Amino acid sequence: MKKIIVVGGGIGGAATALALSQSGLEPAVYERTSALREVGAGIALWANATHILKQLGLLEAAIQVGCLTTNYQFNSQRGKLLVNIPLDTSEFPVVGIHRAALHQLLWHPVSSGTLHLGETFERFEPQQNQVEAHFASGLTVTGDALIGADGLRSRVRSALFGEKLPVYRNFKTWRGLTEWVPTSYQPGYIQEFLGAGKGFGFMMLGQGKLYWYAAAMAPEAQPDLAVGRKQELTTMYQDWFSAIPELIAATDEANILTTDLYDRPPTQPWSQGNVTLLGDAAHPMLPTMGQGACTALEDAYVVAQCLKEHPDPIAAFQHYEALRFPRTKAIVEQSLRSSKMGELRNPWAIGVRNALMKTMGSAISQSFRSLHAYRA
Ligand SMILES: Cc1cc2nc3c(=O)[nH]c(=O)nc-3n(C[C@H](O)[C@H](O)[C@H](O)COP(=O)(O)OP(=O)(O)OC[C@H]3O[C@@H](n4cnc5c(N)ncnc54)[C@H](O)[C@@H]3O)c2cc1C
Repeated sequence: MKKIIVVGGGIGGAATALALSQSGLEPAVYERTSALREVGAGIALWANATHILKQLGLLEAAIQVGCLTTNYQFNSQRGKLLVNIPLDTSEFPVVGIHRAALHQLLWHPVSSGTLHLGETFERFEPQQNQVEAHFASGLTVTGDALIGADGLRSRVRSALFGEKLPVYRNFKTWRGLTEWVPTSYQPGYIQEFLGAGKGFGFMMLGQGKLYWYAAAMAPEAQPDLAVGRKQELTTMYQDWFSAIPELIAATDEANILTTDLYDRPPTQPWSQGNVTLLGDAAHPMLPTMGQGACTALEDAYVVAQCLKEHPDPIAAFQHYEALRFPRTKAIVEQSLRSSKMGELRNPWAIGVRNALMKTMGSAISQSFRSLHAYRA
C-alpha cells in the first residue's frame, strides 16, 4: 500500500486523509498544532462541495449538523433587494455548517493512527522513488509521495518553489457567531448587504447558530481600535439594515474574529516529482465566492482518484494538477474580480452597481449556478 505524507490537518488535509484511505492508500498526516481545531466561524458548502461530501459518505451527517440553505440574496446596505438566487435547483444541496463541525465530520472516519499532532514540517528531500520529510521536532518520515495541505503560508510550497509572500487584497474581515436570530431573518437564506467599501452577510449554520461576516477596506495588519471590535463594528454599521447592528449587539466580543484577506495569482507548477500542493497551499483565494474550502474538498477527492488510477505518484500528480489548475485559477480570478465591486466608495458608482445588479439578476444567478454545477 502506498504511503502518502500529508502536511497540514485543516479542512483540506482532513478531506485528503479520508479520500486517500477510501481509495486504498495509506495517509500519514502531520499537523503543527498540538490539538485539532478550527476557528469559530461558519462556511457555506455549495453544491460542488456537497457532491464531494456525498462521495465521501458524509452528506447526510453534514445536513444533520448543518443547515440547508435555499437562497442567496444580495441587498443594498439599507436592505433593498438587489438579487435573489434560488439555490435549491441542483441535485445537491447547499449547507451552512460550523467549520469545527465539518472538520470533525471529516476526521471521524479516519483511523486514529493517521494523524500526528505537534509536528511542524520544515523540509523534504527526494529519495530515489520516495520522499523524506523533516520536522522541527527532529522527526524524519519517508513516504511514496508528499502533499502540502499547509495553508496560505505553505512551507511545502516555499520548499518547492522558494519563498514568495501572498498578496494582501486591501480587505479586512470580522466574523462572529451568535444564537440570536433577527426577527426579519428568512429561514434558509444567506443575506448579504453591500455598501461603500464594506459589506455584511449572515446565514444559519444549524444547531441554532447564526454566523455573520463583515468585510471592509483596510490597510494590512491594522490593529484593533482601543474601543474593541464590537464597538468598532457598531459604529461602522450603525445606519445599515436594522438586523446588522442588532446582530453585532447580540454577539460576545470574544466571539468576533478578524482576518486580513490574501490570495496568490495562480501559477503553475504546483507539483515537482512526487510532491504536490492542495487547498490554500496551492490556490489561496479571497472568500468572495465562498469557494476556498469547497475547492480544497474537490482537490482532496481528485488527488485520491488520481493516485488510485496511476501507480506512479509522479504521473498521478501531473494528472491531478492538469485537472485542478484551470478550475481553481478561474475561481481565484473570479473571487478577486468580485472583491473589486466591494471597493467602490463613490455614491454614484454604488448607485450604478446596485442598479446593474438588479437588472442582471438572471445573469448573476447563472454564473453562480455554473460555478456550483461543476462535479469533480
Ligand atoms: C473570512 C473568510 C471566510 C471564508 N469563507 C469560506 C466559505 O464560506 N466557504 C469556503 O469554501 N471557504 C471559505 N473560506 C476559505 C477557507 O477557510 C479556506 O480556503 C480553507 O480553510 C483552506 O483549507 P486548507 O486545509 O487548505 O488550509 P488551512 O485551513 O489553512 O489548514 C492548513 C493546516 O496546516 C497546518 N500547518 C501550517 N503549516 C504547517 C507546517 N509547517 N507543518 C505542519 N502543519 C502546518 C495549519 O496549522 C493548519 O491546520 C473563507 C476564508 C476566510 C478568510
